[in-house]
Amino acid sequence: ILHYQPQLDLANDRIIAVEALVRWQHPEMGLVTPDRFIHVAEEMGLIVPLGEWVLDQACAQLRAWRDMGLSGIRMCVNLSARQLQEPSLHDSVQGSLERHGLDAVDLELEITESMAMSNPAETISRLKALEALGVTLAIDDFGTGYSSLSYLKLLPIHRLKLDRSFVGDIETDPEDASICRATASLSHDLGLTLVAEGVETEAQFSFLKDLGCDLLQGYWLARPLPANEAYELILRYNAMTR
Ligand code: C2E
Ligand code: MG
Ligand code: MG
Repeated sequence: ILHYQPQLDLANDRIIAVEALVRWQHPEMGLVTPDRFIHVAEEMGLIVPLGEWVLDQACAQLRAWRDMGLSGIRMCVNLSARQLQEPSLHDSVQGSLERHGLDAVDLELEITESMAMSNPAETISRLKALEALGVTLAIDDFGTGYSSLSYLKLLPIHRLKLDRSFVGDIETDPEDASICRATASLSHDLGLTLVAEGVETEAQFSFLKDLGCDLLQGYWLARPLPANEAYELILRYNAMTR
């Protein structure tokens, strides 16, 4: 099943996107989080069909919300490295969008730095094809992988997601604060928007807002929620700040 975690646009205090996060509803183990099964799916060769299911399900959910009157929300979906190697990725993204009557601007795809750097030439051409569709591309967990700033420049990406490991101690650890400040300035100088992940407190929120961070995601705003709860929260929040 998918849960959805809202993203807040700090410029106008509105929820403008959700990230789809997969969970496994296991009959005995309960709700299993992705860190316990994504790598297994990758090793077993199941990540491509699983990833396609996630993409299609997320698009179906956005369509359902649209039909219920919810507008102005984009869907963010995580990709695995294996999916990025599949020549069929472009067609399956296009297929899901068409099937659910969505535009490419409604979809954002998240890849990690290590994924982007493992085979840069191939990644760049795959990402360019997705960009040509009009999909938004984000680098997830930025700052934690093995990355080359020269490739960063060549990748057709639109957003960086500042990893939550830098956000947790932002008020108390001067080095984490420096990394966040530098990442904010790097992303803006490169014309990218910056999303902060893992924002848990009001103090972290203010700090990141002062740094000029564009979007914010974390428990402080909302945990990843089942579809109906996410829908109600977005409606309530955006009605309140209108
Ligand atoms: P991610 O894409 O970086 O997702 C953010 C993770 O941070 C989520 O963990 C989310 O629940 C957690 N998080 C959000 N806000 C906070 C906060 O304020 N504090 C803390 N401590 N954590 C917060 P989750 O759902 O367990 O997902 C873990 C990772 O699994 C994701 O990291 C992503 O890399 C991967 N993943 C999730 N869904 C999918 C999927 O559909 N496909 C693929 N390939 N990977 C997925
Ligand atoms: Mg992500
Ligand atoms: Mg992340």
